[in-house]
Amino acid sequence: MAKTISLLGSTGSIGRQTLDICREQGIKAAALTAHSNIGLLERQAREFRPQLVAMHDLEPALELAKRLAGLDIEVAYGLDGLRRAASLRSSDTVVTAVVGMAGLWPTMAAIEAGKRIALANKETLVCAGELVMEASRQYGAEIVPVDSEHSAIFQCLQGSKDHGEIKRLILTCSGGPFFGLSREEISKKTKADALCHPNWTMGEKITIDCASLMNKGLEFIEAMRLFRVRPEQVSVVIHRQSIIHSMVEFRDGAVLAQMGTPDMRLPIRYALTYPYREKSELPTLDLLSCPPLTFAAPDLEAFPCLKMAMDCARTGGTSCAVLNGANEAAVELFRRERIAFGRIPELVARALDAIPSFSSPSLEEILEADRRARECVAEAVR
Ligand code: NAD
Ligand code: MG
Repeated sequence: MAKTISLLGSTGSIGRQTLDICREQGIKAAALTAHSNIGLLERQAREFRPQLVAMHDLEPALELAKRLAGLDIEVAYGLDGLRRAASLRSSDTVVTAVVGMAGLWPTMAAIEAGKRIALANKETLVCAGELVMEASRQYGAEIVPVDSEHSAIFQCLQGSKDHGEIKRLILTCSGGPFFGLSREEISKKTKADALCHPNWTMGEKITIDCASLMNKGLEFIEAMRLFRVRPEQVSVVIHRQSIIHSMVEFRDGAVLAQMGTPDMRLPIRYALTYPYREKSELPTLDLLSCPPLTFAAPDLEAFPCLKMAMDCARTGGTSCAVLNGANEAAVELFRRERIAFGRIPELVARALDAIPSFSSPSLEEILEADRRARECVAEAVR
């Protein structure tokens, strides 16, 4: 069980909920980091009294240092600040709750420092999953998933002694706000439409990914990497109610599911208290009042992002980094209302067509594939 954490991305949706669990379980925070929300990071620092706080840029870091003067809290910034937070000697666990590929370097730093990683930042595993998992084995840094589907699978696997017992992982997917619509109808949706998720409240980037089902595509690749299974062993099923968080089918035909109300605090708590379960005061699942549980196949024609991600999962190599980099760039343009929703899959497809993939890339080659994908998207909209 975690006693002291470094929390990367403390001002975000996962970051704030992680601090709720710290309050609930009496876990200390030795480091907190944020991109630019000075006000919230200041309040969090005053409450948790970490040893180190870090911001993305120098200017806000200087402002924060002024506000925290006299509190004996060191203020850092940039990549160096993130890396130091990730490898701080006093933390036993690093929660990676930053969004996007930016999570790669601090995750690697935490692994090299041998920390337990409570991993929310899925983009890192999508881009460089093989290298990250290899490093985690090499340094003995355990990775415990925070993403609800992967936490569900991780929980279902606790009783299993032999990796060969796993036949299939079944990822459940809410279907997002555009479930049941055609590709044509979806392509015209606005930012406000995309930000209306039926079951979860999350950061903007992941909420938009949920609307395009790219999120499920990223989770498909994340599941392969985390649980060392082949793409044929992962399937996606639409489950609108988000009560079953995912399932594992074993070779004897048994299917185990983890169920609960849709609340990220459960997988966050489990990642911090693992291998134990601690008491929660939150409302629990009432089977007699929950809606009927339904299941359907995903519509890959209406949601090409999911199809492209599943194809990249099969191709492997640098294609996953291109998929992710192009998607991050396209989602950012959509967030700034520079492109229509329908252009997200178009731009990702364009980058995948333009940039040839190759297998067993080094970290530098992955970064280069990511850079080229972003450039390809920028060029297409210029
Ligand atoms: P968010 O946008 O709410 O928060 C992101 C956090 O990261 C903020 O604290 C922000 O300041 C920081 N940040 C952003 N860009 C950064 C950068 N370049 N460098 C350093 N820090 C930066 O996002 P979120 O919804 O909390 O998601 C965080 C991660 O967790 C994502 O990878 C997401 O896919 C994953 N995740 C989130 C949820 C959820 O319910 N929100 C569920 C599963 C997985
Ligand atoms: Mg998820």
